[in-house]
Amino acid sequence: RAFGSLSYPELAAEVMRPFLGDTITRDVFDHLVEATYRQFTHPLVAPLKQFESNIWLMELFHGPTLAFKDYAMQILGRLFDQALLARGKRTTIVGATSGDTGSAAIEACKDREAIDVFIFFPKDRVSPIQQRQMTTVEADNIHAIALEGTFDDCQDMVKALFNNLEFRDKYALSAINSINWARLMPQIVYYFWAGVSLGLNERRLVFSVPSGNFGNVFSAYAAKKMGLPIEKLIVATNSNDILTRFFNTGTMEIRGVQPSISPSMDIQVSSNFERLLFDLNSRDGASTNKILEIFRSEGKFSVPEETLMEARRLFDAVSVSDMDTLGRISTTYKEKGEILDPHTAIGVEGAYRFASSASMESDLSIVSLACAHPAKFPDVYKKLDIDLTETPAALRGLFEKTEQLHHFDNNYDQITSFISSHN
Ligand SMILES: *Cc1c(COP(=O)(O)O)cnc(C)c1O
Repeated sequence: RAFGSLSYPELAAEVMRPFLGDTITRDVFDHLVEATYRQFTHPLVAPLKQFESNIWLMELFHGPTLAFKDYAMQILGRLFDQALLARGKRTTIVGATSGDTGSAAIEACKDREAIDVFIFFPKDRVSPIQQRQMTTVEADNIHAIALEGTFDDCQDMVKALFNNLEFRDKYALSAINSINWARLMPQIVYYFWAGVSLGLNERRLVFSVPSGNFGNVFSAYAAKKMGLPIEKLIVATNSNDILTRFFNTGTMEIRGVQPSISPSMDIQVSSNFERLLFDLNSRDGASTNKILEIFRSEGKFSVPEETLMEARRLFDAVSVSDMDTLGRISTTYKEKGEILDPHTAIGVEGAYRFASSASMESDLSIVSLACAHPAKFPDVYKKLDIDLTETPAALRGLFEKTEQLHHFDNNYDQITSFISSHN
């Protein structure tokens, strides 16, 4: 209740403070958080829109690259800078991306003195807008690399660089994927923001979260652990439904990735799921590790019935086909005049399905997360005859700018010598 009067940056500082220890002073951190969210384009930072008496949409696309990744990446970039300048050190960030992570990281780290950034993306497999968001940023410390290969090749390249310990230490490599806790920590904040905005006294919360790597929904789980009265978390996936199958059957099993109209969720192995598994295993590292070894070698594992029941107390899961995603975009446009991006539409579809299910009780409020701005995925709307009325400022002029782009074969030696000569 005491959080009720705080602005978004004030709330953010309060929610993140317990994780900081004495690594950064209060004044410096408060200032950093304030500076981060001051440059978001909506005064409320994460505004809520009401769709039904018990369904809301929380917009998380008001940062510089128009996806929710900005809410954490913008903090992470500043924390890196702060820590490195204080110690007189530099770091080299290497990352792989299939969509929104690359541009968010580039935007967060451009022109930071102590950071060099190398982002690998699969050549011709990201959308033209996503590519240009990465390649038209004019900053000497940013290097966007189109690799001949798939997203998996890009990720393998990053792993290979980290596994060369001499290289790793010489260039002080750092990661920007959501395995880094500082990517999840700032995402906890907007769940509290939703709760505080809706008035926590009378309501119990349900969140519907479009999910791929399980990072965003794990942040919701962390919010619950911190005391937010969350009743249910709906894990909403596209046809790549490995998470949904797990929550329905207790078995996690790898199948091939199918391309969908929500590409940022085209993922097989969700790296943050390991964090939940650890908790479900009573935080026993050794037994968690055993399960993951089985998963790596056999491509599947199962948990006991009690563990599944425990997980299902909090988590519910839905898988939404491309056709149902397009249907939800159309319906929402006709009935509410709102254009949903395809990832967001999957969460909203999950919210409506839950609202009409037997689990729905009268004092529950469902908040569905809007993960990206529709203008990032213009092709989807051509099929539906929906006019994207205005291009957000962040995307204007992208196609008039010159691209700064490096092409490489999937060749380890060429990549290491490129990084060495640009450091
Ligand atoms: C990253 C992303 C997701 C998936 O989030 P996870 O944290 O990986 O589960 C969903 N939608 C959009 C638009 C994204 O950029």
